Formats: sequence, structure tokens, C-alpha cells
Amino acid sequence: MLTKKNSRGISFEGPRCLLLSLILVLISGVASADPLRLGEDVRPTFQAIDLVLDARVDDYRGSVRIELEVKRATRVIRFHSEGPELTRVVLTGSEGEIAVRHEAETEEIVRLEADSPLAPGQYELEIDFTNAYDTQAIGLYRMEKDGVGYLFTQFQADDAREAFPCWDEPAFKFPYQMTLTVPEAHLAVTNTPMEESSVKDGWRTVKFHKTKPLPSYLLAIATGPLETVSMPDLGVPARVITVRGQAHLTGLAIEMTPPILKALEDYFDSPYPYAKLDFLALPEFWPGAMENAGAVTYADRILLADPESVSVAQRRSMARVIAHELAHMWFGDLVTMKWWDDLWLNESFATWMGDKVVEEIFPEFGMAVAAAESGQGILRQDARATTKAIRQPVATAKDLLSDIGLAYQKGRTVLGMFERWMGRETFRRGVVNYIEANAWGNAEAADLWRALDAVASQPVSAAMATFFDQQGFPQIEVEMLGDGKVKLSQKRFRNYGSESPEFVWQIPVSLKVPSGEGVTSHAVLLDAPTQVVDLGGQPDWIFPNAGADGYYRWRLPDDQLVSLAKQASAVLSPRERVELIGNVSALLSAGSLRGGQYLEVLGKLADDPDPQVVRSLLGALGTVKMAFVPAELETSFADYLRRTLRPALNRFGLEQVPGEAEAVSLMRPNLYTWLGREGRDESVLEAARSLAHSYMKDPAGADPALAGVALRLAAIGGDADLFEDYKRRFEAAETPADRQRYLGALGAFDSLELRQATLAYALEGPLRPNEIFTPFGSIGNDAAGRDFMYRWVTEEYDQLMARLPPMFAGFMPFAASGCSAERLEHAEEFFAQPKHQGPGTDKQLAKVAEQVRDCVALREREGEAVARYLKRSVGP
Ligand SMILES: [Zn+2]
Repeated sequence: MLTKKNSRGISFEGPRCLLLSLILVLISGVASADPLRLGEDVRPTFQAIDLVLDARVDDYRGSVRIELEVKRATRVIRFHSEGPELTRVVLTGSEGEIAVRHEAETEEIVRLEADSPLAPGQYELEIDFTNAYDTQAIGLYRMEKDGVGYLFTQFQADDAREAFPCWDEPAFKFPYQMTLTVPEAHLAVTNTPMEESSVKDGWRTVKFHKTKPLPSYLLAIATGPLETVSMPDLGVPARVITVRGQAHLTGLAIEMTPPILKALEDYFDSPYPYAKLDFLALPEFWPGAMENAGAVTYADRILLADPESVSVAQRRSMARVIAHELAHMWFGDLVTMKWWDDLWLNESFATWMGDKVVEEIFPEFGMAVAAAESGQGILRQDARATTKAIRQPVATAKDLLSDIGLAYQKGRTVLGMFERWMGRETFRRGVVNYIEANAWGNAEAADLWRALDAVASQPVSAAMATFFDQQGFPQIEVEMLGDGKVKLSQKRFRNYGSESPEFVWQIPVSLKVPSGEGVTSHAVLLDAPTQVVDLGGQPDWIFPNAGADGYYRWRLPDDQLVSLAKQASAVLSPRERVELIGNVSALLSAGSLRGGQYLEVLGKLADDPDPQVVRSLLGALGTVKMAFVPAELETSFADYLRRTLRPALNRFGLEQVPGEAEAVSLMRPNLYTWLGREGRDESVLEAARSLAHSYMKDPAGADPALAGVALRLAAIGGDADLFEDYKRRFEAAETPADRQRYLGALGAFDSLELRQATLAYALEGPLRPNEIFTPFGSIGNDAAGRDFMYRWVTEEYDQLMARLPPMFAGFMPFAASGCSAERLEHAEEFFAQPKHQGPGTDKQLAKVAEQVRDCVALREREGEAVARYLKRSVGP
């Protein structure tokens, strides 16, 4: 799946799989794994699913027929079913029907019991049931667009059981066959092509081909008055499928997909594994996208775009998500993890592979540098003591959600680090062998370790395991010994004052140093607490993370760091400069760098010629603002921002010029935001108001990259008329992108009254449940906004929970994040009340508490130094 995280590290899809979004959440451990698992005594080998689905009404009926193999004599058969009402349950053995009783063992498991033990052998289980569609975009759910009903599914991780009885664990991987009966005018879509279709009395019955072996979480169903556009050049029949009236927005996806699929087939040395490929664009959907075999679902705003007004950011996001989901056809679908503790086998690989393919096919998007930037974000999260290891025992899939970002971003970076260490082609051979050896089946980490060790010149699995199985990451101290020798020492990276267990990693370190006219790098595996490396001569400077491929932090002697920062743009690549910014921010958090020094270094890097480096710097300013800028310093900080950033805007220009690099168009909105909202730069605000005006007059008439930020900046100081205007335009929006832009901008009005109105509208207006948090991105930008939002979430808690899927309860403590000890204290009381608790609430609260305490400690330690620096450096 592709999930997205917002700037505060909250994972909901409203925003980027992008990481923006499975949403997230948490749900805590359950005492013992066994009662929650179905066990191995009885295994299904085939399941037929027959459903009568009418998207115009609220409920449905169906039946399943499951072929079972009883492997060990047992009186009990257990399966998943959560919601369906079972109206007929018949078990048949070789001798005919067998009397069984059934009862709900838990909310999610049904237990069938026979009078005497069933001997090992083949059985068949038939179940008829009725059920209501889900309405919160999980399981088999109904939604309306323009008053017309549609049905879609989202089953990962464990919601197939809400749609029909099944063996809902990933290791139960076998063929399914679906038959859907729908109103004659509706289209029916599943994972496979149609086998036969017949019409009777206004109903169409479509029998689909049997699937390849699949786990239940990868099944998909869609029906309603859907429209299709075919996608040529993919080697299998392929379509983009949309709700009514959106087929004209599919062109870009159709153009981007063939080269992406081709690059993946080349990498894996094998063709796309399924018989057809449909992409479905869903108006109501929590994740960014979901890799159902042969029927990939996407949030509509990711897959659909008006070619006239598509922004670079949207094109890049579309390419990334398509590549990520198609990579899953091999990592996840063809080879599936045995259990959710190895979810990273799906997500780390799909993220790593997807970004690699985008960099290869669309180099103009600067994906390699963007990947280094998102890698900095996950290091910040992973620095916290409350963050777990990527691989950890999980009792249910829901246990994964609190640290879900690690499987994507940390896993991706670690894979990249070892790919570089082993060599691209060697690593690829190991991966291809792993896929071949486990095709159509399940795998666990050990299977991958075996495949990589078999091709590597020295074993790599033990080293990789130190990153996947241990929490946190190392910091490498670099000490110059003279004579061209450096001493490397490792210890766990910790934020200042934080306590956590120590570990030793086996780290592929790559040291970059000058060599003659050029540069060279020295690769070493640091597998002990300390190690001395002979560089063969005393270097003028040293960069301890060549290529920015390493998943670690580093520390140089102060004078070396300053010397490196000064010449960074001459000797380091853009990726390495992005890493340098992340690293100095980490040194500040660790207490190894003073606040004033930090701002000075950032100031130097703002002159960087590369727009992506400047973008990364803007991210670092977010931390500065949250930790160090109370109301009385806002003017000094605004001044610092204008002085620091205005030269960059002057260099890159206020407006797009024909032929400019995509990276510039991608970064300009960030500069607008910082200079306009925080720097109060009047010329930027004026330009934004004028852009917003032209965009509202004619969406095709404004730079699409700037449209969203222009609307938000124009809302600053905006009045109720403008607010109403945005609301009307949000409701009437004809493309998903316009809808997002207006809704996001509603949160940018700064008067108390209009903020209140925005939040009321979020609950009572015609928003889809997955849009409720969209306006928060703007409201949470300042300390007052965060307080405001926190009060709203706690005061409207019941109403909010009535509109969100139950798993969100555990995620709500996010509202207390920021830098306020007082708010945290309130949250700790609020979420201690049983009525405000859901599965995972405590875990999430502990994470938020650690984030807030780190921030408060940083402010106490460095606040005065930063304030001195900001005041001293105020210009005329
Ligand atoms: Zn994914």
C-alpha cells in the first residue's frame, strides 16, 4: 500500500504513501498471539465467492464455497468473519454432509464445531450470508459521488473478513474465483478478466477467471456506473476505471504507466505476473493507493489529472505511486510475506524499487535527492526511544500501524545502503533469485537473507539484520589521528537527555575525501565499536556519508564541520548536501551543536544553487520555528527568513519561466510559503493574491504548481466573503486537484472566527471522511493554530469518532504534538479516560509525549542562544 505522512508525521491519507497514508494507526498489542490466529490444522486450497451487489442500496447477500484440507484431526474449524450474518453453514466431507454448530468466538472469528473429530482429508464448506456495506471506506464499502452510489474495497490488512467469511491471514495464499451479480447497467471489476457473463431480468452475472494464488488482503471488487479507458502497450489487457464523468482525466496515467512497467519487468527479468491490469481511481479512499493484484486502487487525486492544469508535484507523485504499486506486483503479490512482522518485505522494497524506477525514467523529477530528503524525516522519527524496530513480533496486523513509516522509508534507505555495498548488479541477482524461489508463495526475512548471501562476496545478512531487527540507528564519530588515519566509533544516536538501550550495528560506511583534482571514497564495514581506517594521506576535508546512502548520523570535529559546510556546494552532491542539512539538525537535537551555530550553518546553505537543497533547508526551518519562535520573536524570525531566503527567490524567480528545471517548479511553492506566511514578505503575498485571483478566474490561467499555495496565502487576512467563495468552489470542483486546493486553503484563514468556521465545516460540511484532516495542514502551522486544533479535537471528540473508522481512535493523541508541555499534560489526562481510548491510544500518546518533551528540552537548552542570534542579526 502507499501511505502518506503529513508534516507532523501523522500518517493519514489525505496526504502523501505516500506515504501519506494507510492510515495509520495504532492499535495495541494483544496478550497472546495464538487465539488471534487461525492455526495450521485446517488450510483452504480454493475459495469461490458469489456476491449480489447493487450499489444503489445499503446491503447485500452472498455465498462462499471453500475447499479445505484438514491436516490434523480436529473437531474445530475457525475462520474470519466480522459483520456478515451467516444464514446457512454446511460442511461436507467425502461421506456427505457433517453436522456442525457455529458460534462467534470473537468479534472477528467464527468457530465451527463437529460432534466428532474430522479426519485429515478434503472437505468443503459452504456459507450463505447477508451484510450491510461499510460506509467508512474500509472493507467492502459504499460511497456516493454526485448522488450516485458505487462500491469499492480496501482489505489490507485485515478487512476482507468484513466483506465475506474467509481465511484472512497472508500465509493462506491460494486461488479464488469471484462471481458478481450487479444491475445490468453497472460494471463489475475484480482481480481477473471476465470468464463469462449473462443477463437476466435486468441483472448481469459475471463470472471471473480463477485468480493466481493470492492472500485475501489483495482481493478487490468494484461496481457501479463506472467508466473505462483502455491503457495500451502493457502486454496484457489494461484499463483506467473511474466514476462517471472523469474518464477525461486519465491521460497522464495512461502515458506514464508503460515505461514504468517495462523498467520493472527488465529489473526482475520477468513479465508482469497477472492476466490483466486495471487502475481504479476512487473518490473516497484512505490509502494513497493499494496494490490489489491486477486491480490497483488509487485515491483519485493521485491518479487523475487535468492535463491543462497538472502541477509538477502531482506528476511526480503520480509516477512514484504508480511505480510503487506496480513494484508490489512482484514484492507483495507474487511473493507475499508470511506474516505482518515482515511487512517491510513488501513496503521497503516497493518504496526503494519505485523511487529507483522513477529516477531512471523521469530524471527531471530529481527523485534521488527527494528520497534523501524523505530519509531525513524517518531518521528524526527513528531517533525516538518509543520507535520500534522494523521487524518486531506482532499479534495482529494492527500492531504495525504505529511505526508504519519505518517499513517504507527506513527500509528503503537501508536497502539502498546495502545495494551500494554489494554492487547494483549483485544485489539485483540476489533479489531476482529471491523472487523466483518464492514466486506464488510466501516468504520471510530469512528467505531474502539466504538469496543475498548466496550472491554476495561476503555475507551481508547479519549486517542487514542489525538495521532491520534493532531499534534506532548508529552515530559515527570521526576522529582525525594524523598520518592519514581516522578513527571511527559508533554508538546509538540519541536526542539530548534521551535514554535507550545501546546496540552495535554492522555499518557499511563510505568516507568521501578529496583526491588530487577530484574526490574518492573509502568503503569500510564498521562492525565493532571502533575501527581505524587508513586513508593513505591526510585529507583537507572528509564527508562521512558518501552518496548519502548510509542510514546513520555522523559527527566531525567542529572545525572540520565548518570547513565542510563552507565548501559544501563545491565538493558535495545535492543528495549529500541534503544529508548534511539533516545531519546538522540531528546534531542540534543531540546537544552536539549550539542553536546559534546551527542557524548560521543553515544561513550559509541557503545560498545553495540547487533548488532541492534549498527545499530541504526550508524543512529544517520548520523545526526552528516550532521549537524556538514564540510570539515575541516572530518579527525577528520573519526578518531572518527574508534575509536568508529572499536571495534564493530572486535567483529562482517569482514566477515560472519557460524551460525551467522541474526541480525549481517543485521548490518554489515552499519558498512562497516560508517567505509569505512566516517571512511576511509583502511582494510574495501580493504575487500570491494576484495568482489566486487568476486561478479562480480560470484554473488553466495560473501556474498549477503555485495555485494551492497562492490560495492559502491569499487567505491570510482574508474575510468571510473569500471564505464562502472557497467553500463554494470546493463543493463545485471538477477535478480532484481543485477540490484539494480549496479545502486545504480553507484552513489557512487566520481569524479566530474563520478558523472556527473551518473546523465546523470539516465535521458538518460535505467532506468525505478521508478529507476531514485536510484543512489541518494549514491550521497547525503556528503555536496558536495547534492549540486551537487541539481544543477542537478534544471538544468534538465524539463527533469526530462517529465519522472516522474505529482504528482512528488510537491516533487521536497526535493533536497534542508540538512544543507545549501544558497541552501535553492536558492530553495525558484526556486520553487516560476510558471513553477517549481506542486500541493503540497509549502507544501513540507515548510517542507524542516524547516528541513534545524533546522539543521542550531543546527550547530550554538552546532557546536563549537562538533568540540572541535572531535579535543580534536583525538588519536595518
Ligand atoms: Zn506499498
